[in-house]
Amino acid sequence: MPCPFLREGRARYCHAVPVRKLILEGPGAAGGGLCTTAEYRRCGVVEQEEGAADRCPHLEEVHVQYCGASPVTKLVPFSESQTSPCTGGGYKYCDSYLTRARPHGAGLAPRELLYTSNHLWLEVDEQGLCHIGVDGFLADLAGTVDRVTFATERGRHRPAVSLSVNEVEWPLLFPNSLLIQAVNSHIRSDPARLTADPYGSGWLFEGWEIPGKTRAGLIGGEQAKAWQAEERERLARAIHAGQEELCADGGVPVRGVARLLPRADVVRVFQQFFSNAGWLADE
Ligand code: SF4
Repeated sequence: MPCPFLREGRARYCHAVPVRKLILEGPGAAGGGLCTTAEYRRCGVVEQEEGAADRCPHLEEVHVQYCGASPVTKLVPFSESQTSPCTGGGYKYCDSYLTRARPHGAGLAPRELLYTSNHLWLEVDEQGLCHIGVDGFLADLAGTVDRVTFATERGRHRPAVSLSVNEVEWPLLFPNSLLIQAVNSHIRSDPARLTADPYGSGWLFEGWEIPGKTRAGLIGGEQAKAWQAEERERLARAIHAGQEELCADGGVPVRGVARLLPRADVVRVFQQFFSNAGWLADE
């Protein structure tokens, strides 16, 4: 399904000049000027002997797509737009889409996500395009992340990343392989996205599903809801054991509790909830 902000139209350009500049046609667009009238012969690019037509023979028209959410209209010929994220499920992770789709900080529409036992999520669209990120449980526990280092960036791998939280490294491994085609490069310069918007602009990996492998063993649906609730209770017990003051009323750990715990406790909590020890390679 294409992005709801994707627009289509017709544009024209002159193929007699070295740099192609597309100009959108239609209501509100600029008129054709000399090019669409017999006056085109007054244009400096046209040779005098280039005949007498009612519009310039160098004028070309193409079907284009452009983003209706962006303040800058960048026209992309239809023939070149089919691999863009705007035409597939990847649009849900575009910054322009997220800004327009969530006015005033509203949440995203519910989506069918699958979870790993170490708190990563996976979304797979109808074409098999996958996105992976950390879940809200991990985001709440970390509060903020100081640095994100990708250990795998392209190719067929189990995606791996390391988060630096208050001087402690949290290596995270997605248990199954996929064909990674991109990582979220914005997150390197702005790691706060990871925990501020873990299901949207804080995504980590994009790639293609390997049928029979990428989703294997992941938790979804009602089972995921129950598991998430159990994990929050388990965390409350783990923190509450020695650090009651780090829990709000009702025993729920405060957001960012990992930044308040002694280092040894952070390592212990990481090993209890995010470690991937014992997983076997699936390749
Ligand atoms: S740039 Fe983003 S918001 Fe605009 S059409 Fe593409 S996916 Fe949608």
